[in-house]
Amino acid sequence: MKLIFLGPPGAGKGTLAAKAVDLVKAPHISTGNIFRAAIAAQSPLGLKVKSILDSGQLVDDETTIGLVKERLAEADVQCGYILDGFPRTIPQAEALAGFSTVDRVVNFDIPDTSVLERLGGRRTCRGCGKNFHIVFGKPKQEGICDHCGGELYTRDDDREEAIKKRLEVYREQTAPLIDYYRKKGILADVDARPAVETVVENFKKSLGL
Ligand code: AMP
Repeated sequence: MKLIFLGPPGAGKGTLAAKAVDLVKAPHISTGNIFRAAIAAQSPLGLKVKSILDSGQLVDDETTIGLVKERLAEADVQCGYILDGFPRTIPQAEALAGFSTVDRVVNFDIPDTSVLERLGGRRTCRGCGKNFHIVFGKPKQEGICDHCGGELYTRDDDREEAIKKRLEVYREQTAPLIDYYRKKGILADVDARPAVETVVENFKKSLGL
């Protein structure tokens, strides 16, 4: 199944996508993770996008579309994928339609107040990228990743000013995709406010899994 996960930053798309990989048996492709890996590797792409990510703005469509087009040409995604964080603009969605046919779009819905609470407390592993939370999902040992022992840190774009900017960008540039895909008849809404186990159940129901 070819899936898009839509929703504001902090809706839990990354966490849910990691769980959905086994359910739908398709790889998880996160454009945010691809950009962060490029930044960590200090590649030309990383150097180009670092200040954009830190400020909570979007990377330009041309760069982002090129990256996803290349990734979706690889063998492992020919039967399915979970796209998390792409498309984020109408031009990205239109470009995607030109090189892949999406089956369903899952819209994870959550109010801004919950986003601020979730992202403000989020801690990310420098090693494997896994997320924890200072209240809702503490690691066994403070500051250390349960999975790989890496250091946990606060992403620059999880600081309050950047979160507010990301929400503003989401409302202006990404939220119009909800109607775009609803009109195509492939959108499923999922309430992203409950605990992750409940959201997973709601997600399964929404896709009839
Ligand atoms: P995420 O981890 O999905 O919240 O993405 C982190 C950041 O990466 C975003 O705030 C953007 O700066 C950038 N980014 C990720 N996906 C896209 C996209 N589809 N278009 C433009 N910028 C993106």
